Amino acid sequence: MRTTQRSDERILCSDVFEREDLVDGKSPARPDWGFWDEPGRRLPIYHRCDVLVVGGGPSGTAAAAAAAKEGASVTLLERYNHLGGLSTGGLVIWIDRMTDWQGQLVIRGFAEELFDRLPADAVAGPPHADWGSQNPAKAAHWSQRTAAYHGIVTWSPTIDPERLKLLSQEIVLERGVKLVYHAWAAEPIVAQGPEGGVVKGVAFESKEGRMAILATVVVDATGDGDLFARAGAAFDNDIEEADIHHCMNTAWLFAGVDMDRWIAFKAGQPEAFAAFMAEGRATCGLFERPFVSWRNDVALFMGPRQTGYSALNVDDLTAVEVRSHRAMERHLAHYRAHAPGFENAYMMLSAPQIGVRHARRLKGVDAVLRRRWPEGTALPDEIGVTPAVSPKFPNISIPYGALVPERLDGLLACGRHISCDTNSHGFMREIPQCWITGQAAGVAAALAVAQGVPPRQVDIGRLQAALARQGVYLRCTQELPQMSQSPQPARAAAGR
Ligand SMILES: Cc1cc2nc3c(=O)[nH]c(=O)nc-3n(C[C@H](O)[C@H](O)[C@H](O)COP(=O)(O)OP(=O)(O)OC[C@H]3O[C@@H](n4cnc5c(N)ncnc54)[C@H](O)[C@@H]3O)c2cc1C
Repeated sequence: MRTTQRSDERILCSDVFEREDLVDGKSPARPDWGFWDEPGRRLPIYHRCDVLVVGGGPSGTAAAAAAAKEGASVTLLERYNHLGGLSTGGLVIWIDRMTDWQGQLVIRGFAEELFDRLPADAVAGPPHADWGSQNPAKAAHWSQRTAAYHGIVTWSPTIDPERLKLLSQEIVLERGVKLVYHAWAAEPIVAQGPEGGVVKGVAFESKEGRMAILATVVVDATGDGDLFARAGAAFDNDIEEADIHHCMNTAWLFAGVDMDRWIAFKAGQPEAFAAFMAEGRATCGLFERPFVSWRNDVALFMGPRQTGYSALNVDDLTAVEVRSHRAMERHLAHYRAHAPGFENAYMMLSAPQIGVRHARRLKGVDAVLRRRWPEGTALPDEIGVTPAVSPKFPNISIPYGALVPERLDGLLACGRHISCDTNSHGFMREIPQCWITGQAAGVAAALAVAQGVPPRQVDIGRLQAALARQGVYLRCTQELPQMSQSPQPARAAAGR
């Protein structure tokens, strides 16, 4: 086990658990079973559209909704039966910071629309009036409830995943997106253009067999860069060893708990809490503390975080599932026996989607880079703004170039696999940032279609103007969005 340290570059300090079955530092070798040549075959074309978005996570949902809003015909392909990706099916229901350290809402656009429309009892977080507050009592209260860091109250609420699934689905359907669930994009369809590969669509697998969708622009929102990697785009996969940004685990929920009692114990009896954690590690091995959810009677476990596994290796994915499910059982026994507030806890749900934080990162024409954090200036092709990881740094500009492959055409990337370095991946992978890059990819894809140009040649001024009209916060355009009439104050601490 390693313990990561909180620093100005890391949001969360935590225990990280090594895998136990490495052989000479590598995954155990598989026997060589040889090859099976797939016979050449004609694929029926299932659909043709302007913009095909593959992956219905936060970024893909935002991309599809944004492209359709710009007038494109859009298809959204998702392998599971719901939208939201890790923010719903992965039970990552703690939406990270959308305010900067002054309390200004900088993650807007699609994110704001979601929070305006989620039912009041589906969101728990601090009231709008308290965003940015340094009041010690408020910061102490919210620091136990995912919404205060460095003594500052932040807008980083927890949500009901079922409500977010449903709302995401309704938004894309309202906009006329063709939604295809239970469909696994297997292979990009790539033609050779004058400058190299041009993505033209995907071959996908479903219960109907293998079929094709053709599109003018494909948005890779798979999270793992499946499409751009298979289409030949360059990518990085190095990691920050001392961070948790690469760890995997399957999250889960325990119900029947009283989180207020747990928090009173954790905050009020620090020595007893430390002893509890030490005993938990000794008894359970992999051990994790709970986070609040959108309800007082539901606890969220987003660990134990596991290192040494690859999100691109099916054996590793299986091993992490097995370990996580076993950990869930051990945790239940330990928490029921020893944790105030957990006496009547029961297993509510282990996440249907495995928690992959990192697999590949696109090599884009530009990137979000650690060396730019101190600058605080808007890049000329800014398509969004992210809060910095600590008050030490100003807000950080996200360039359009981070979504555009160095060479491949016909494709944009968004979400946790965009072009960034390992430090910046720590926050660029978070759900709010995925909404931002998804919305930008969707708008850019629609504009590329409308302008009849490859995505890399989209007019940046028109892109920024369109994003601003969709409510995105940018610093480099005159068309700044008005704040929506956010009803957040009324939702404060709903369900807690
Ligand atoms: C355990 C854990 C804890 C985290 N904690 C936080 C947190 O507290 N706050 C926060 O804001 N963020 C957190 N994150 C990060 C955040 O959840 C993810 O990085 C974010 O959801 C990524 O969004 P995405 O759209 O890029 O990808 P994903 O959410 O992974 O969505 C990708 C979607 O694409 C689909 N897909 C993939 N491949 C294919 C294919 N070939 N064909 C069809 N569909 C496909 C998947 O089924 C999935 O629905 C955490 C992540 C993990 C794993």
